[in-house]
Amino acid sequence: MLHSNLSVNELGHLTIGGLDAVDLARQFGTPAYIIDEDMVRENCRVYRRAMTAHFGSDAYPLYASKALCFTAIYRIAAEEGLGIDCVSGGELYTAKAAGFPAERICFHGNNKTDRDLADALEMGVGRIVVDNRDELHALSAMAAAQGKVQQILLRITPGIDPHTHRAISTGSVDSKFGTAIETGQAKAIVAEAMALPGIDPVGLHCHIGSQIFEIDPFVDAARIMTAFIAELKRDLGFACQVLNLGGGLAVRYTEHDPVIDYADAIGRMAAVIRGLCTENGIDMPTILLEPGRSLVAAAGTTLYTVGSFKEIPGFRRYISVDGGMPDNPRYALYNSRYTALIANRAAEEKSITATIAGRCCESGDLIGEDMPIQPAQRGDILAVLTTGAYNYSMASNYNRIPRPPVILISGGEARVAVRRETYADLVARDIG
Ligand SMILES: *Cc1c(COP(=O)(O)O)cnc(C)c1O
Repeated sequence: MLHSNLSVNELGHLTIGGLDAVDLARQFGTPAYIIDEDMVRENCRVYRRAMTAHFGSDAYPLYASKALCFTAIYRIAAEEGLGIDCVSGGELYTAKAAGFPAERICFHGNNKTDRDLADALEMGVGRIVVDNRDELHALSAMAAAQGKVQQILLRITPGIDPHTHRAISTGSVDSKFGTAIETGQAKAIVAEAMALPGIDPVGLHCHIGSQIFEIDPFVDAARIMTAFIAELKRDLGFACQVLNLGGGLAVRYTEHDPVIDYADAIGRMAAVIRGLCTENGIDMPTILLEPGRSLVAAAGTTLYTVGSFKEIPGFRRYISVDGGMPDNPRYALYNSRYTALIANRAAEEKSITATIAGRCCESGDLIGEDMPIQPAQRGDILAVLTTGAYNYSMASNYNRIPRPPVILISGGEARVAVRRETYADLVARDIG
């Protein structure tokens, strides 16, 4: 199976963390997001251990919570000793509701509103990653007026193309994120931040993109960032205490994707970064990483019920399920590839290929095309694997379809972490 927590039982059913997927579908209804909590925790530990071992005891991972956000996941991150990234007032609010320690929150976003900044200051978040000059000045004024000094990191665009999908590549000069080194603006914003009241620039941040399989783009980013840190030290006397290298390590979505050893990748990155610091004559800053996808994606499986199996002679087969782009917009957005199977026929061979379609009034409402799968019929349970990241968090109510529940499984037990939306929820905010 694609992930270590998946198997097939004596009934020929898919099991997730030891639980029968068909039973889960029966118990919680479909569509449903099943998240293997034990796997999420194990991934958190792998990152934490590897970062401590290779970067030192002050280094730690921040969970980029936009990947999968609800109160219980913040509790899990807190219990596992991670920090978190939040990118909106809504994520901050959710983290607060979960009792997440504010000092371990890093607040992101390329266009934080005044309200976002005010909320972050009021909550006392540990660090705010400042994207641009306008935000720098707004935050400085706001914090100074409150008599506060807010620790910040400055978001820098190192000018890297990580060879991933354009929509998830974020480190090139022409980006809506951050301030570019190449144009001289990054150095200028550091100088400005050093002089402004109400803020304490403790370091730099960069995030080059997502779904990156090789460490080379990270090494390239680190090479550029460490050289830049040396330049800031020489020209401005800036002491960079923290270097946050963002997230982006890839996840295995299909059998064609390589298996990634995150601990090994972190170890190799650390060795290079140490060398780069020595080469550039700078002290090794505290290194932070911001994994999102690689902590939660593989732990997620979406269960659907098949509604129809349609064969168009000379064209293709469609398997339609009771979900689609409202619960998983990633194929529509990025042509993302997934692995699917019929959970109640998991022992059977995937003898056909089919397009898995949703139930929305859009031809683009697909989970995937030409997917190898078992022949299916109405009532079967279809499982789409590796949906833990950017599925629930990107879900919508398009066509007034209620969002599925999030079911956490741990130690052979399942519990509802987010209940299914109801039709009443859909009209709850409609007035008149
Ligand atoms: C999205 C994002 C991440 C997480 O990326 P993954 O590919 O999910 O690991 C980390 N940091 C920042 C700033 C991001 O925007």
